[in-house]
Amino acid sequence: MTDARLRALLEDVPAAEDVPLAAHTTMGVGGAARLALFPRTEGQLCRVLRVLQEEGVPFALLGRGSNVLVSDKGVRVAVFTAEVNGLSRTPRGVRAGCGASLSALLRFALGQGLGGNAYLAGIPASVGGAVFMNAGARGRYIGTHVLRAEVWQGGKACVWDNERCRFTYKHTAFMESGAAVLAAEIAFFPADPAEERARIAAALAARGGLPKGRSMGCVFRNPPEGPAGALIEAAGLKGARCGGASVSARHANFILNEGGATAEDVRTLIGRVQGEVLRRTGIALQEEIRYIGEF
Ligand SMILES: Cc1cc2nc3c(=O)[nH]c(=O)nc-3n(C[C@H](O)[C@H](O)[C@H](O)COP(=O)(O)OP(=O)(O)OC[C@H]3O[C@@H](n4cnc5c(N)ncnc54)[C@H](O)[C@@H]3O)c2cc1C
Repeated sequence: MTDARLRALLEDVPAAEDVPLAAHTTMGVGGAARLALFPRTEGQLCRVLRVLQEEGVPFALLGRGSNVLVSDKGVRVAVFTAEVNGLSRTPRGVRAGCGASLSALLRFALGQGLGGNAYLAGIPASVGGAVFMNAGARGRYIGTHVLRAEVWQGGKACVWDNERCRFTYKHTAFMESGAAVLAAEIAFFPADPAEERARIAAALAARGGLPKGRSMGCVFRNPPEGPAGALIEAAGLKGARCGGASVSARHANFILNEGGATAEDVRTLIGRVQGEVLRRTGIALQEEIRYIGEF
């Protein structure tokens, strides 16, 4: 299928050609999307997914781009969910479109006199990306609070209950099934706005020690033996560099784009960290970040 035919099939969906993905990811590296699609509604998103899947066109689905490493070669098609961001109150919480940011979700809930998810404050994610990754902080994860997810799978929209999503530490059923999160209903509870605001401020303050600059957040999952950052630090890798990429001197599980890093620099540094930690400890660190495109 040619790009022109694809554009014709999806002519009402906002699109652009040769969009640099570095500008759409927190790491700021990687090549371009030959075609970028920006669906505005859940209906448009479903149609985009249907057409791409029926036509066998490979694509990358992106929320806020905060946990991805995009290949220097870029991708043929990228689908951005940011505009699919409706929020509405439900009897048990808030229903959020997949592209809504976690900060917008918390703000909306606060405005409704609801709280209970302040731990999500400061995570630079979309609701879809957070549900896909089971994002969380300080031992609490969004998966615990997902009442149901509206999902695109097998060419149709369906509803998954919490159990079907199979949330475990930084892992979900979405990763294996290739299913897309269209929207999710997140549990919230009546809360005093001033107290909830204070909880959000405390959660943000607790993140003050995280490295500043362009990163993907934690690169590696924590193995059962302990925090990945401590293992990397013990291996003497804080500050290790490859091209424009470096292991943060502040938090060794972060890799920073110091400016001008390529995806290949980052990939090489990840391999070096894995090799050195394995050699010293026998522990094989697994990436938490997701690779987009060809490496
Ligand atoms: C500074 C910084 C701090 C961070 N702190 C934390 C933290 O405290 N806790 C934490 O858990 N994470 C943290 N992260 C990582 C990141 O924010 C989370 O993993 C987040 O869940 C990614 O969401 P996203 O919308 O950016 O997804 P993206 O990075 O856009 O995508 C990540 C993956 O999700 C898939 N995806 C995105 N949207 C959908 C969808 N609608 N349906 C199906 N799949 C989808 C993508 O295809 C990709 O495979 C941090 C990142 C940064 C840069």
